[in-house]
Amino acid sequence: MVNHVEKLAIHGGEKVKTTPFGTGKRFGFEEVTELVEALNQNTLFYHFGTKVKTFLNDFNAMYGIRYSVAASSGTAAIHVALGAAGITVGDEVITSPITDQGTLVGILYQNAIPVFADLDPHTYNMDPRSIEARITPRTKAIVVVHLAGNAADMDAIMAIARKHKLKVIEDCAQSYLTRYKGRLIGTIGDYGCFSTNDFKHISTGDGGIVTINSGEEADYHAAHAFADKNYQRFGTNVQKDLYTLAPNYRMTELQGAVGIAQLKKLGHICDIRQRYGDKITAGISHLRGIHVPRVDEGNYCTYWFYMFRLDLDQLTCTRTEFCKALEAEGIPNMEGYISDVAYMQPLFQNRTAYPGSHFPFDISGITYERGLCPVAESILQTAVRIQVNEFFTEKDIEEMIAGIAKVIAFYEKK
Ligand SMILES: *Cc1c(COP(=O)(O)O)cnc(C)c1O
Repeated sequence: MVNHVEKLAIHGGEKVKTTPFGTGKRFGFEEVTELVEALNQNTLFYHFGTKVKTFLNDFNAMYGIRYSVAASSGTAAIHVALGAAGITVGDEVITSPITDQGTLVGILYQNAIPVFADLDPHTYNMDPRSIEARITPRTKAIVVVHLAGNAADMDAIMAIARKHKLKVIEDCAQSYLTRYKGRLIGTIGDYGCFSTNDFKHISTGDGGIVTINSGEEADYHAAHAFADKNYQRFGTNVQKDLYTLAPNYRMTELQGAVGIAQLKKLGHICDIRQRYGDKITAGISHLRGIHVPRVDEGNYCTYWFYMFRLDLDQLTCTRTEFCKALEAEGIPNMEGYISDVAYMQPLFQNRTAYPGSHFPFDISGITYERGLCPVAESILQTAVRIQVNEFFTEKDIEEMIAGIAKVIAFYEKK
């Protein structure tokens, strides 16, 4: 290779990417057909119609599981799992500080207390040693976030959970068909939660799924009831006695109908994203100043997005300068993911889940300080995120790699 540094587009040089990224339609005739059938049922209620039931049956078959429950969102799915697991007032739930806030909502609505574990610097998933260090007598559950299609270290996490008798809820909202040592994530913990919001691998507009992995009918019934105001709606026998509180998170037949058609596309979507993500890693892992995301041996990552980290000691630029230069090359990108770790949100800093109250934080007196999870904080300060999409072409991916390589070549310390 010649050590020739090209003029960056941001300095007036030629752009790496001059053609638009591949695009496509997510919804087609298949969805329309299912929707028309749903409407022709003359009911859009999941319990009377067949669409939500078929959607779940198809999902169960794909995942090799017996029981799952539909919900109105991924946030709702996680709340359902927590409710079904019996998480209640003053319990502590350990989770990740780099996630969508949907991971945290259900914890707080159960009046339980989120406790944040630090992350692995290269998978961006929870570090089992940090999880174990955060366990107290109040700890009841771990919500494991599998970030951006990459599996967390489930063997170690399940061993800790069994030792301390904790429930494990997998947040798989960003990780459809992700595999951990060959096993599908979402089937390893007690519950697995998925989102079908419009930004996920598949969309029903909004929606969610909870897997019940014990295979026990009683656990299935508890989850099913928690998504439906605690109505016990099984067969023709409906029991409406209320012993504890549960929300209405029902999925409608319209979402179920779209979900049936979307599930048929999921394998293809995940295969392409996996291939593209791994191709980017292969294309940029040798570059100085770049740390690629690590997918552990034997795992299968379905890249909801692709996030690498800059080693700024090896570069003459800031992250902002790098990102702007990459953008100018025709490669859209974002600095980091969420703007800061979850516990720096005012909600946690002021300890105000509910206006005018410090409940449930005052039960334990917990506070959330900068520096609580130093690795997570440094990930967000050094990460660069680029999109991976099943509609992109091989050439799009090659140009992304070329763009990153060009910007690095300019800024790497000589
Ligand atoms: C999207 C997402 C959620 C929430 O899903 P919604 O359907 O938007 O409620 C929860 N956790 C993670 C990690 C997510 O990416």
